[in-house]
Amino acid sequence: MVSIILKRGKEKAVLQRHPWVFSGAVQQVNGKPENGQLVSVLAFDKQFLAYGHYNAQSRVAIRLLEWDEAHTPNEAWWRKRIQSAIANRSHILTPNTNTCRLVYSESDYLPGLIVDKYADYLSVQILTTGIERNKNIIIDELQKLTSTKGIYDKSDITARAHDGMEASSGILWGEFPPEYVEVMENGIKYHINIAEGQKSGFYCDQRHNRNTVAAYLKGKTVLDCFSYSGGFTLNALAAGAAQVTAVDSSALAIETLQKNIVLNAFDITQTIHSDVNKQLRLFKEQEVFFDAIILDPPKYAPSRSALDKAARAYKDLNRMAMQLLPTGGLLATFSCSGAVDMETFKQIIAWAALDAGKEIQIIQQLHQPEDHPVRVSFTEGEYLKGLLLRIV
Ligand code: SAH
Repeated sequence: MVSIILKRGKEKAVLQRHPWVFSGAVQQVNGKPENGQLVSVLAFDKQFLAYGHYNAQSRVAIRLLEWDEAHTPNEAWWRKRIQSAIANRSHILTPNTNTCRLVYSESDYLPGLIVDKYADYLSVQILTTGIERNKNIIIDELQKLTSTKGIYDKSDITARAHDGMEASSGILWGEFPPEYVEVMENGIKYHINIAEGQKSGFYCDQRHNRNTVAAYLKGKTVLDCFSYSGGFTLNALAAGAAQVTAVDSSALAIETLQKNIVLNAFDITQTIHSDVNKQLRLFKEQEVFFDAIILDPPKYAPSRSALDKAARAYKDLNRMAMQLLPTGGLLATFSCSGAVDMETFKQIIAWAALDAGKEIQIIQQLHQPEDHPVRVSFTEGEYLKGLLLRIV
């Protein structure tokens, strides 16, 4: 096996089990590994550190897979890792919920692989050359473990580009219904368009938060901003909200939400196909107020360098929402930017409250669910955070 020797001192992060080795940490490559090839990583004194996948094109030159020298990642190793990721989620899948994330990349010791389950179908993301090389074993094991009817490749283009790969999408195995797959989460049904929907088709990372927030919404008028296919809207209606207004700028999202309302035999909903910031300004001008508002925007800070600009955008958005809430009103506000940690998010919210002239309390702190675990040695896996706030 090709071995790669790290510069003196660069073994530290590897020993702490961080799964990335940056190209600048590499002292010497013994051999000519292809992109995605399995290599062994050695400290400057030639001590074995870990096995990983090499990629000469990526800023992350080696993605570490295994720290025990006796456990060379072979076919059995891959199958075992997938088995354990799936076994750890078995309690999430119940008669009320048949969708969740089955494999979450580095957090499941499978860097570059994401697998989401949508009832009888799977959507996978193959984000590194290392995963690409082991695709056949992965697909085979997924088929065996999940009795799936079809596996769809919905890989993120940007992530693949970092590893020097082309975009990739389409059916990997099996068959898909022509239009929608129907899934259930928290007892609510959703139509999912795996091929055309955003990300992998459904935001299963908000499963718990939809439930938690909905518990406060009985009899309330609710504004669900960035509604996508209606996760928060439908949970609010199921919990007995008096009226829900959903806003999203994507026509497909609104169309899917409307289908989901019918699918669950709900009504009392208004859908607005518009930009949220524009709509919030309009509500303010028209003096339209709500008992509760949900803000679940897309990622505003794709990296640390975008933090300042993103902080201002989060602040403005939250300030506008707070202005539409009376005393006693509730705001469930989220950020899925990994670069914005909980402390920073709280500061942004405090800043928004000052600007809005509102006193607020944090009632609950919200996070990504257990099928998106965070490895203590890889806190980069933490991205979704939320605050449930009350205007006092
Ligand atoms: N709350 C949703 C997930 C939100 S994802 C759920 O529970 O499933 C973010 C959504 O924001 C996407 O549907 C996207 O279309 C929408 N979006 C992005 N920018 C927007 C904008 N400026 N105004 C309105 N919607 C926007």
